[in-house]
Amino acid sequence: MDDIRALELYSGIGGMHFALRDCCPAAKVVAAVDINDHVTQVYAHNFPNVKVKNKGIEGISVKELDNFGFNMVLMSPPCQPFTRIGLQKDINDKRTKSFMHFLSILPKLQKGPEYLLLENVKGFEKSMAHEELCKTLDVCGYHKTEFLLSPKHLGIPNSRLRYFMLAKKSKFHHLVSRNDEELWTTLPLSLTDKQNCNREDTEEAIKAKCPKMDDQVRVQETCISHPISEFLEKDVPEDYKVPDKVKSRYINVMDIVPQESKISTCFTKSYTQYAEGTGSALILKAPPNHSENKSARNANDYDLRYFTPREVANLMCFPDSFTFPDFVTRKQRYRMLGNSLNVKVVSYLISLLLLDGDMKSS
Ligand code: SAH
Repeated sequence: MDDIRALELYSGIGGMHFALRDCCPAAKVVAAVDINDHVTQVYAHNFPNVKVKNKGIEGISVKELDNFGFNMVLMSPPCQPFTRIGLQKDINDKRTKSFMHFLSILPKLQKGPEYLLLENVKGFEKSMAHEELCKTLDVCGYHKTEFLLSPKHLGIPNSRLRYFMLAKKSKFHHLVSRNDEELWTTLPLSLTDKQNCNREDTEEAIKAKCPKMDDQVRVQETCISHPISEFLEKDVPEDYKVPDKVKSRYINVMDIVPQESKISTCFTKSYTQYAEGTGSALILKAPPNHSENKSARNANDYDLRYFTPREVANLMCFPDSFTFPDFVTRKQRYRMLGNSLNVKVVSYLISLLLLDGDMKSS
């Protein structure tokens, strides 16, 4: 198979690039495109050798795309038009315009990519934009399969249920499309089995290494769940403590977790700005009778702190090599991470996309 040359669209801080590097170290990102100059600075800081285009995707021409010479597209289009709490304006939202532009030029490319992976929020699968995506992929002759997957399905103690489209020019031999959430989280390879395989393996070799491959193994059953303690920093400064006035006002709506917990809630871009539904806080001290019953909590009994941006990055499986330039504020770090993705989940899906593609049909 050809070397992987990926184009990263809506590249943000480069979650897709870290995922590709994780599963396929020899792969190259030929260009990254994002309209926001704050995130492109973080991207360039981490990937100084990648061409980063700070521009809107609606302004990209067929010729420009053809010149990048890519055979894979990794993309996370803006999710606000599809979020359950948003207005769900879908294709009528101006933030969907650039994605529709991309769909309109995909069939016109001289050599369309062999592989495509798209990430978005749960809800995208019911949108008009999704319908348009499927139509375009069909017209261009792609085979496709879709998943709803959360890091917790891979044993990572964080929720971030996201929609994924995997598409490629050749056939999927083992991945099958699912049409409900329960089944979409059922993957054909267990994580541990997959780690024993490499892309040069023939189908026979993979089958021998992954005997349960045809049985649609549930990843949840085969992955070890890790506690939050494995993702924490040492010596976290005092100013990460949840202030008393926030605690006393919001303790009854906050999600708070001890370090032994094997789950935390999704960290959004508003983490620490709003107390409810933006991500968990860590319990440093709790009363002996601490219960899950939020309304029974007394703020004075608890000592809480926020997860640091590095800890949020750890829970999103960014490697240690990932850093923010010093000038990026704490608030911006949470914002950027909140818009990003879980690196291990995407790495897992990219390797399924490539692994399945490499297998010869018998
Ligand atoms: N996967 C990325 C985050 C994607 S969030 C990561 O790992 O960080 C969506 C991104 O799309 C944001 O960074 C936003 O700046 C960018 N974006 C929004 N509209 C855009 C447009 N019209 N053209 C290019 N980028 C856009």
